[in-house]
Amino acid sequence: MTSSIYIAGKWRPALDGAVREIRSPADGTLVATVSDGKIEDALAAIGAARSAFDSRVFSSWSWNDRSSLLAKIADLLERDAEIIAHLESGDTGKRIIESTYDVADVAATFRHFAKLASAHHDRSVDSGLPHVTSKMTYEPIGVCSLIGPWNYPLLQISWKVAPALASGCSFVLKPSELTPSTAIHLIKLIEEAGAPEGVANLVTGSGAAFGDTLTSDPRVDLVSFTGGLPTGKRIMIKAADTVKRVALELGGKNPNIIFADAPLDEAIDFAVTAAFLHSGQVCSAGTRLIVERPIHDQIVNEIVRRAKQIRLGGPNDLTAETGPLISEGHLKKVEEYLAKGLEEGAKLLVGGSRCTSEELSQGWFFPPTVLDDCNTNMYCVQEESFGPILTVEVFDTIEEAIKIGNDTIYGLSGAVWSTNPITCERVSSELRHGTIWVNDYGPYKPQAEWGGFKASGNGRELGEHGLQEYLEIKHIWVNNSPTRSGWFADRN
Ligand code: NAP
Repeated sequence: MTSSIYIAGKWRPALDGAVREIRSPADGTLVATVSDGKIEDALAAIGAARSAFDSRVFSSWSWNDRSSLLAKIADLLERDAEIIAHLESGDTGKRIIESTYDVADVAATFRHFAKLASAHHDRSVDSGLPHVTSKMTYEPIGVCSLIGPWNYPLLQISWKVAPALASGCSFVLKPSELTPSTAIHLIKLIEEAGAPEGVANLVTGSGAAFGDTLTSDPRVDLVSFTGGLPTGKRIMIKAADTVKRVALELGGKNPNIIFADAPLDEAIDFAVTAAFLHSGQVCSAGTRLIVERPIHDQIVNEIVRRAKQIRLGGPNDLTAETGPLISEGHLKKVEEYLAKGLEEGAKLLVGGSRCTSEELSQGWFFPPTVLDDCNTNMYCVQEESFGPILTVEVFDTIEEAIKIGNDTIYGLSGAVWSTNPITCERVSSELRHGTIWVNDYGPYKPQAEWGGFKASGNGRELGEHGLQEYLEIKHIWVNNSPTRSGWFADRN
């Protein structure tokens, strides 16, 4: 779709006419051609969002009406689930079944925020005075720049778009330049559901070209961003001048801690899934395996055996269990990361070099890889590879397990495996990460807040807080029987 920029209710090409090809990371085939927006397009989109917001065309809708809009969008997502799943798999190379799960999660996100919107109410505050009513009201924050990553393209932007609409904001959406197709489809559904013109705007193209415009323009009130730490830091700096609210969902280096008394079969199975699902391109991937020394060999041998069996392939390969990395550039980064780990003394147990077989050589495939003999001083333990690389560390005491699990600048998620409830309770309370799974790995619910401690970001998406991010809070004090204050003497 070469007219994939949507501003003030109209689809159009980039102002300079530039287009960008989207190619499948699984085999390089052309999957889409989209508009390649630039700063002028971003400025126009911000202008449209600002005008729509300032006209109050949407913020004056009742919370119930906005709730109905979200429920309608959820219905449309379910209607188009198959189309959307194919678009998502085309851009990302992930299996259709995974994209299908993602679309269901996206619809559930819209339903969650629809429910929150319908239950929304102002809050009375006891003024302590019989003639005064005092209440807290919640208003949309205004114009939002919503910027998403490429790993779960539609899901991650739905965590932003749904609460922005629920609260009555207007927005400019910028999907990753690599994966714009499902964002384009979502905007079509928002249009079909009846959002007023100018409320939802979309600019496809490169963050390097116009990201700074979206994050520094004074007409923008909030930036909500999901992506890497370097971009997140840059956004904070760009947004500082106009004191915008900034919500950041950044990377993770997530500990998966297994004690010797854990249910080992399940722990091993989940360790494999946590590390290699979507080829490790998951912010909450369990890429740091931290095992109690006596079970190290048993766990690691079994994980290596399982890793060797994992079948790689593109969306059209129905036997594939995981797909490619997103791009050649990302594949190179993963290779460099691995090389550093090996230089630092990590021991390669399985995987380790890009797939060159005939059926995979046209795509960016990298096999499940396990590095043993790791410790927290190593680059490969501290930095996110965002690829299928699992590092293994050992511990001897619960204190050591907690210390290792917290020894990272990140704080997104982690897991603890043990049959001892006291161990589980202590580890889950002392790990400084935003989500902790106990004898499990990976589940999340739209009703529960998601987000990171430390350098994994600030703010929270989903849950109730995920709506509050998009709201300003106002105190309205009404004196129904005013009298003089008497503070200063009246000397007339
Ligand atoms: P990224 O390179 O930081 O890009 C994220 C988004 O920011 C893309 O849309 C990108 O556009 C845009 N961007 C680039 N430069 C920008 C700028 N100067 N100003 C504003 N936006 C700019 O991250 P990624 O590689 O797409 O995503 C992977 C990262 O996301 C990983 O670190 C992962 O852990 C993190 N992530 C976190 C969560 C979470 O919930 N915490 C979820 C998913 C992913 P272009 O694509 O056009 O460059």
